[in-house]
Amino acid sequence: MDISYIINELGEDREKYFSALAPPIIQTSNFVFKTVAQMRAAFENEYDTYIYSRGNNPTVNILKTKLAALDAAEDCLVFNSGAAAIFASVLANVKAGDHIVSVQKPYAWAQKMFDVILPRFGVTTSYIDGRYIENFERAILPNTSLIYLESPNSWSFEIQDLAAIAALARAEGITTICDNSYCTPLYQQPLAMGIDITLQSATKYISGHSDTVAGVVSSNSHLIKKIFNSEYMNIGSGIQPFNAWLLLRGLRTLPARLQQITSSTYKIVAFLQQHPLVEKVIFPFDQSFPQYSLAKQQMKGACGLLSFIIKAERVHQIEKFCESLQHIFIAVSWGGHESLILPKCSTMSHDEFNAENPEHRMLRLYIGLESPEYLIEDLTMAFDKIN
Ligand SMILES: *Cc1c(COP(=O)(O)O)cnc(C)c1O
Repeated sequence: MDISYIINELGEDREKYFSALAPPIIQTSNFVFKTVAQMRAAFENEYDTYIYSRGNNPTVNILKTKLAALDAAEDCLVFNSGAAAIFASVLANVKAGDHIVSVQKPYAWAQKMFDVILPRFGVTTSYIDGRYIENFERAILPNTSLIYLESPNSWSFEIQDLAAIAALARAEGITTICDNSYCTPLYQQPLAMGIDITLQSATKYISGHSDTVAGVVSSNSHLIKKIFNSEYMNIGSGIQPFNAWLLLRGLRTLPARLQQITSSTYKIVAFLQQHPLVEKVIFPFDQSFPQYSLAKQQMKGACGLLSFIIKAERVHQIEKFCESLQHIFIAVSWGGHESLILPKCSTMSHDEFNAENPEHRMLRLYIGLESPEYLIEDLTMAFDKIN
């Protein structure tokens, strides 16, 4: 299906709402029935009917139709955060006594779930370096029911060979989940490579305006229905109509935003690479990236997030660099219109900081929609302040 069609038309039945171009926000908790027979029929199949907005809501369903199509999935569910999307899709696929194989350093709240919540219910997790397929082969146990992937991850961008891991998991009857937040469905299609469930934080590129938190899980109808009938309905973490509308609005410009961010990212990578205060730039679509050929093979694009190692002897220099930036904000998250910087040293005390450890001198930069020249000027000025 054409991306332009998905974004502009699919799922929108404008005659149902006064031919309004923009979809309505159906801000309702429940739906009424004319007859008891209709109500009974609805109860028999809540997955496909409007009864109560914790289950289905028309504004949310327009969004779901589009997001599932972007992932080339049979169906999807939209949650009120990416963390909720992770939680529900993992929980739906494990039971007491099961074992999970996860890439090392997955998104922090996925790791919290594996380390703190699931062990209370007898589910254990092994972390592996996902760059090597042998590590998956070695880590799989007779009770492994789930492989959890994140490709690329959002700090150091290590990637996994999704097709190879999917084939291995299929042969062993293991379900695979991939966090696709970095790429979005426009730059990577995990389901087409055989992955069972793909998810993303829609807070990032789908919203694109740093004004809402949301998450998407896409898969075949069987798995989506399973999650809907248990975790989705039970946890009650579905997205609300107004937030769904914000995502619909964000989606309209997704390809244009990614295009602009991609073009700026290359310019900023080139600028950083030649700067004397930069030791190393980490970006999956740069030839210096160790997994460059696999990245090129399975991803259609890369943009926005990159990391670099700054040359500094003291933590104060890194702090001064960040604080000198006038247009790039110090903040977590990414995917919005505004550029952001996140220094690794913010996750440790001054005593823990060790300048000899390059990871401590790492900064994650998100390139937003500002002009690249404007951003390069800001970075140049901040480097000059610590030189
Ligand atoms: C932000 C993020 C999440 C969590 O999404 P929220 O919408 O913040 O709950 C999950 N995975 C990755 C890679 C992320 O960057």
